[in-house]
Amino acid sequence: MNNLEIIKANPQGFCQGVIRAMRITKKALSDKDTKRPIYILGSIVHNKNITNAFKCLGLIEIKEDDLKNISEGTIIFTAHGISPKIKKLVVDKGLSIVDATCPMVEKIHNIVSEKSQEGYQIAFLGKANHEETKGILDISSNVTLVKDDLTIENPQSKCLLVCQTTLSFPKVLESYSILKDKYPQLEISNQICNATFNRQKAAARASRNVDLAIVVGDKSSNNANTLAKTIEESCQVKTILIESKDDLIGIDFKNIKKVSLTSAASTPKIIVTEVENFLLNEDTKKDINFLEYLKI
Ligand code: SF4
Repeated sequence: MNNLEIIKANPQGFCQGVIRAMRITKKALSDKDTKRPIYILGSIVHNKNITNAFKCLGLIEIKEDDLKNISEGTIIFTAHGISPKIKKLVVDKGLSIVDATCPMVEKIHNIVSEKSQEGYQIAFLGKANHEETKGILDISSNVTLVKDDLTIENPQSKCLLVCQTTLSFPKVLESYSILKDKYPQLEISNQICNATFNRQKAAARASRNVDLAIVVGDKSSNNANTLAKTIEESCQVKTILIESKDDLIGIDFKNIKKVSLTSAASTPKIIVTEVENFLLNEDTKKDINFLEYLKI
């Protein structure tokens, strides 16, 4: 890849919500007063390197169903938030709680609770089955997921439209406009978090006039997939989502002179550095110690 020009998006990588969740989890694991065993309900963030590294430190990942078999220890709630029903179940079982919910997600929980208590229907625009979506749908029976064809089931006269924190900003604007045309009574609340918005904007800026846009992130991460889609659609440029430098092996760079490089809010910096070195033919082939994935 001789003379390849790399335009790096700024900001990119870990957001404050991920850094906070990792700090809280590291502290719980190193604190001798934290009741053992220490479980986490779901993935701390959607990145395999980080979840495996925490596993090496003794963190046990569980699903909601596993709670019925757990009678002692500590449960960590992830950055994606938790439904009030699950929280109550954990409290009723007498388990200790460490809450790493991102404040941006907490803010949506508060808006949804307050408005549903005021008698509003809440239409939630989000990815079905994502942890954040599940937590919010569970807050009240007044919350309903906006369908894929942008319709709202049984729309009420008082209805608030809210969205998931990590959706594509241009897509949300488009969807909100279509929904408002269909349901003029809708009140609107845009809850895309600043970290998501700023990373999408910076990635689109870096990807103007490049031959290839590269996003480093986990294939299971909503914010990584959304970042790639946002670049592709707003810059009309070929965009690839890779998990590590190994995913670049076999790509023909013969006609590629300029690439943009960005990473998702849950991607460790060390992986991006490796990708950059590979693109610059400076592959060091060094084995990464798992603790390096947890550097913040
Ligand atoms: S992407 Fe946004 S909502 Fe998600 S953890 Fe980061 S700051 Fe919080």
